[in-house]
Amino acid sequence: MEKFNALQISKTDDGQAVGIVQLGLDDLMEGDVTIRVSRSTINYKDALAITGKGRIVRHWPMIPGADLAGIVENSSHPKYKTGDAVLLNGWGVGEAHFGGHAQMARVNGDWLIPQPDGLSAADAMAIGTAGYTSMLCVLELEDRGVSPDKGDIVVTGAAGGVGSVAIAILAKLGYRVIASTGRASEADYLKNLGAAEIIDRSELSEPARALDKPRWAGGIDCVGSHTLANVIARTSPRGTVVACGLAQGMDLPSSVAPFILRAVALIGVDSVTEPYERRVRAYERLVTDLDLEKLSAMTTTIPLDEVEKSAHALMDGKIRGRIVVDLG
Ligand code: NDP
Repeated sequence: MEKFNALQISKTDDGQAVGIVQLGLDDLMEGDVTIRVSRSTINYKDALAITGKGRIVRHWPMIPGADLAGIVENSSHPKYKTGDAVLLNGWGVGEAHFGGHAQMARVNGDWLIPQPDGLSAADAMAIGTAGYTSMLCVLELEDRGVSPDKGDIVVTGAAGGVGSVAIAILAKLGYRVIASTGRASEADYLKNLGAAEIIDRSELSEPARALDKPRWAGGIDCVGSHTLANVIARTSPRGTVVACGLAQGMDLPSSVAPFILRAVALIGVDSVTEPYERRVRAYERLVTDLDLEKLSAMTTTIPLDEVEKSAHALMDGKIRGRIVVDLG
């Protein structure tokens, strides 16, 4: 039987162990589509799982990797046949179902979308859940009428995966972007992606006033906690803030003032269970609205045996932009 390499997280008496193992197709979990995985990526949630810093894994042992791209090996799902190029983001893959950090995967075909024309598997994984979430956030701003003429957009956690892709998309769409980062050394990187102004994350990380001077028409927040509260308090009347992350914390020490005195809207994004049609729409927009040269400038490619080390670096805030895992 064909053997393939997989990164595996196993439970131990004092926590968990991570290592590369050889598995056979019979070891994979249930699903109606088997995929030869060519690329995956490391998202914040994958890093939490691999480092054990977050309770992400819900089935032991687990193959991490919330995203994968590859070619269908065999399928009994009506939408897919052998040889189709597909990709997957989310759906609890890498948490409750074996994920993309393996050369083979078997999944529910309803979780897949066809690899969009105009994107390679490597492009799709450079985008990954992080980049696809950025597009979902931009769609929310657009759907609520926050167009480039309405004012600036702030992006927090700017040098991370979601932040980097969000800046590149917003800049290409003509928005003036304010990037909030804790890494002053990444100012040139952020400007090259299209940020017009850089602010230090400390400007937003302390407790917020109920209302502050309006500074932007909208925001994409990857950070939560006081940062999100400050972003909301500085949003101009009828503006929209899209919350997608919790890098500073899960709490939201805010007040109702921006909502009832400025009609500011706070919208959440959950990429994991986004319906098929909206996923396809987000990827169609990524094809047209994300500059692939900028995507490549923010992406580092690594082999499977460097995933664990990179997950620790991501948790330490040392990774800039996006990582692609080449499963060769
Ligand atoms: P990254 O680790 O790539 O980026 C997170 C960034 O947040 C860091 O680069 C850093 O940016 C900033 N940051 C880290 N720690 C702090 C802190 N203590 N205070 C303020 N800022 C901090 O992660 P991703 O970009 O992939 O994900 C960002 C967030 O979005 C995560 O919380 C993730 O769980 C969430 N997420 C949610 C999704 C959804 O569907 N809702 C989907 C994907 C991600 P800098 O160095 O520029 O300051």
